[in-house]
Amino acid sequence: MTDPLNNKKTEYDIVIIGSGLAGLTAANRLAKLGYAVLIVEQHSKPGGLATWFKRKGGHIFDVSLHGFPVGMIKTCRKYWSPEIAESIIQLKAIRFDNPQFSFSTTFDTPDFTGILRKRFGIARERVDDFFRTVHKMDFYDDQTMTTGELFEKFFPGRDDVMRLLMEPITYANGSNLDDPAITYGIVFSNFMNKGVFTFRGGTDHFLRQILGELGKNGADICLNCTAEKILIENQKITGLKVNGRVIHCRAILSNANLLSTIHDLVGDEYFSKDFLQESSKVKVNNSSCQVYIGIRQGEKIDYVGDLLFTSEAKKFDPTELLSKRTTSRTFSFYTPAIRPDSDRFTIVASSNANYEDWSSLSPEEYQSSKVELIEDTLTCLEKYLPGVRAEIDYVEAATPKTFQRYTLHLKGSSFGTKFEGLKVSTGLQKQIGGLFHAGSVGIIMSGWLGAANYGAIAANDIDKYMTNY
Ligand SMILES: Cc1cc2nc3c(=O)[nH]c(=O)nc-3n(C[C@H](O)[C@H](O)[C@H](O)COP(=O)(O)OP(=O)(O)OC[C@H]3O[C@@H](n4cnc5c(N)ncnc54)[C@H](O)[C@@H]3O)c2cc1C
Repeated sequence: MTDPLNNKKTEYDIVIIGSGLAGLTAANRLAKLGYAVLIVEQHSKPGGLATWFKRKGGHIFDVSLHGFPVGMIKTCRKYWSPEIAESIIQLKAIRFDNPQFSFSTTFDTPDFTGILRKRFGIARERVDDFFRTVHKMDFYDDQTMTTGELFEKFFPGRDDVMRLLMEPITYANGSNLDDPAITYGIVFSNFMNKGVFTFRGGTDHFLRQILGELGKNGADICLNCTAEKILIENQKITGLKVNGRVIHCRAILSNANLLSTIHDLVGDEYFSKDFLQESSKVKVNNSSCQVYIGIRQGEKIDYVGDLLFTSEAKKFDPTELLSKRTTSRTFSFYTPAIRPDSDRFTIVASSNANYEDWSSLSPEEYQSSKVELIEDTLTCLEKYLPGVRAEIDYVEAATPKTFQRYTLHLKGSSFGTKFEGLKVSTGLQKQIGGLFHAGSVGIIMSGWLGAANYGAIAANDIDKYMTNY
């Protein structure tokens, strides 16, 4: 293979490590401002977790395009292009099915208000007060109250209400009842406010448009390029070692895992004791399993909703949600309405998972556990689509090990770090001149919207740094 760096310059203003949505968004902003920007991506495809893959039988599977909040429209318009924003469409029906309740919703405040009043018998004032409180929450609020305490305050003893309001958020970013209530409030306000949205045409179409914009704005991107060492002199960035070569630059934005950026790409010797102490408190978020299901060409499946949250757990149980044989999973249904240039139907089942449950297995156990995961998933799917097995001609499973292999994220973390990661991520720039981080951290900054917005925020910080350089 020819060296992907061959036709690239040896010096840029800014190098970005990783082409996740944060890295790409920052690159676009900075290139538009006139900086010479290079993105280096270790994988052969750009996008990070915002990715897709093709399989035999003509199937295209989206990995993380299950749904994002309405805010993505504004973010795409502002930081990418109006055309990209115009492809965002709303999902029509989000379905819940578990031993405590079963119904479909449009996933917005008016619909949730009606459901909480009519189905769950909660007084109107209480519901309004809850929505007002969470919509008002921001980063500067009290950070000591936990999400569990927030639910207990508004809906004491109502584990069914808590499940309705919490389970989708746990799927969306791995947060749980012990996390600070503000992380819930901010994510909930984004998500369960005006519905759930997706990108018409799929992730491949999205990334094609994104790469087109980057090219137009002059950013370079180099795939199959692994950042090995961030080079520092007198506590300032001087360059990056990539695939054994040195690229000189004045600033680096790492979109790679926060902890590997600190300990591996930089090295502890460059940080203050206090900063390392803070970093030692950072916990990575959980990982995921997925089962990708392809329906044979020519076959159709009945419409059972766009997203289906299903579980056999008696009540919301974070331990069950993460366990290897969990019955709690989300089915995403991809139809020609979502991918208009295809006549194919595909289904992706996602569940939250603990990395250790999969990393500790022998190769034989790992293979048989994947078979079990597929089997459990198809059995569950048949409850909603009887006879669907006969229409399936492709199935494949991904585990936390898969996510680790493709993104280099510690423990295959799907949603970056827990809340304490945000302070450390934003604190990097105060430790080393010209070093910045952006990407899924702190729960708030995770998901397509959080990562893209964090990339834009980091780009503004980098611009300030470069202006005063
Ligand atoms: C199964 C699953 C389902 C999800 N579903 C949704 C969803 O429906 N909606 C939603 O909003 N979010 C979803 N997410 C989360 C969302 O995909 C992520 O939060 C977001 O894409 C992360 O973007 P990021 O910028 O943090 O970078 P990442 O996507 O984490 O990318 C980081 C990039 O850095 C690269 N990299 C790492 N180290 C190096 C190195 N040393 N050198 C070069 N490159 C390097 C990696 O290869 C990767 O491309 C899901 C995630 C998973 C795993």
